Amino acid sequence: MKIVKIETAWISIPCNPPQGVSSMTIQASTDTICRITTDEGIVGIGEGRGAAQPEICRTIMEEYSPLLLGENPLYSQELWNRMYSYKLGVPGRPPEWKDLRRYQVALAAVDLALWDIRARAQNLSVCELLGGKPKAMPAYLSKAFYVDGQSHEEMCDEALTEMKRDGFTHMKMRVGRYGFRDAIERIEAVRKAIGPDIKLAVDVNEMFDYETALQTCRAAEPYDLMWMEEPFHRYPRGNDIGNPNYDRDNFSGILSRQTSIPLSAGEHHYGYAECFRLITRGCIRYMQYDVTKDGGVTAWLKVSAACEQAGILMAPHHVPHFHIMLNAAVPNGFIMECYDNKRQHPAWPHLFDGFPTVKNGMMDCPKGPGWGMSVNEDFLRKHGHLYAWG
Ligand SMILES: [Mg+2]
Repeated sequence: MKIVKIETAWISIPCNPPQGVSSMTIQASTDTICRITTDEGIVGIGEGRGAAQPEICRTIMEEYSPLLLGENPLYSQELWNRMYSYKLGVPGRPPEWKDLRRYQVALAAVDLALWDIRARAQNLSVCELLGGKPKAMPAYLSKAFYVDGQSHEEMCDEALTEMKRDGFTHMKMRVGRYGFRDAIERIEAVRKAIGPDIKLAVDVNEMFDYETALQTCRAAEPYDLMWMEEPFHRYPRGNDIGNPNYDRDNFSGILSRQTSIPLSAGEHHYGYAECFRLITRGCIRYMQYDVTKDGGVTAWLKVSAACEQAGILMAPHHVPHFHIMLNAAVPNGFIMECYDNKRQHPAWPHLFDGFPTVKNGMMDCPKGPGWGMSVNEDFLRKHGHLYAWG
């Protein structure tokens, strides 16, 4: 089998209204797609997220494609090594953060497409290829964003409506944009609205310094939180600026010993080294490594295996349409992050035919083959940017 064609395209659909995480406001729902075709007519799709979309496409088409065309897509680890060695694994290359990210994200998109082909070649789903049984997984509603002009009451009403519609028993909310008091007021409002039986997590989106994180954890303990997500950024914030000992993983480790609230992280940890460091610091209970942001399936499986050894559960960040098959296959798969797609990800159910659904709080695992999805050509052509497509 040989790779004969590589295509890329991207899409950006405005969120109405814009949805704020704690650190920034998301104006649009975006996807960057890689599609790989073989001489046997097998077609695989992947997605990459976390770098400028035209740059992801350009990196795949101009820099990775020459390493891939004519090669056997079943040798996915070999091709991963080849892409990694091209820039990422070489000292001094790439020189800048934005280049580092586009190479990591482009590698993820290609790797996901290669795994799709590997599974389809055997008429299996990716879950089955990994030895897993395709089964529904517990899901949480990722909601309670910062929306301009929205009161706490409206925020809670919107979340409750979505929770009830799909039977969610777990949810996540955003805190941290406006410091400690705002965080506690929001948590208090949501906990009061959803009652004591719904599991509630909070996502800080890396906005706290140590003092604020500790203060918030202490005040939030009576609200029975499932986890606090990413209290700390790669670079220090607030009172930690200028602290020569600042280290987000060490700080999480110290925090985890000062609070009963479990911590989670991983969506902004890139590469094996960063993930293993996070795992071995013993500071998190839940790993949120994202298959589309760095390294693809090849890296995700190794990170999840290391987590398994350390007693850490997988709660992967975002893109449930790819993570569901991985989370269902690994022994430490715990929960799926899902959205109110109408507001947060208006493109998803239309762009991907076969997009998994949530019922009674459980996300369905598609039957396959491959990822069990295909790109909806009509939707992409109408709304997308066809960088190299068709
Ligand atoms: Mg997060």
